[in-house]
Amino acid sequence: MSITQDQVVSIHYTLKDDAGEILDSSPEGKPLAYLHGHGNLIPGLERELTGKRAGDKLQVTVSPADGYGEYDQALVQRVPRRTLKGLANLTVGMRLQAQTGHAARAVTVTQIAGDLVTLDGNHPLAGKNLHFQVEVAEVRAATDAELSHGHVHGPGGHHH
Ligand code: ZN
Repeated sequence: MSITQDQVVSIHYTLKDDAGEILDSSPEGKPLAYLHGHGNLIPGLERELTGKRAGDKLQVTVSPADGYGEYDQALVQRVPRRTLKGLANLTVGMRLQAQTGHAARAVTVTQIAGDLVTLDGNHPLAGKNLHFQVEVAEVRAATDAELSHGHVHGPGGHHH
């Protein structure tokens, strides 16, 4: 069975940056399961997986535009520390939910200088070329419930 729209696909993967540093990987023996064609993977990776089969191995390089987007300087803001009241142990690298208008956005603390805290609203992988090594572990048809929810149930998916 080859990978097409609406199939449940399990993949082992390792993700590296341009320097060869490992950024992420599926846990040993626990492939990631996703529903193909529903935007659950970044577009550049999903596209390359189309038509592959269980046992296939592939190397995929994804540019920021097909991954987590270009880095947007406008999403970086400096705020006085006192506006983050209630956060006693603020550290660089900490992820926060920032309230912007009525939407909450995930931001990362990237710098603390005196009273000024820099918050970066970019995805941590924005602006990076992503180098994936992928092995397709399994391909199966999705159940009706999975299709109506738009994600995978069972091992490797939601609702464990
Ligand atoms: Zn569900």
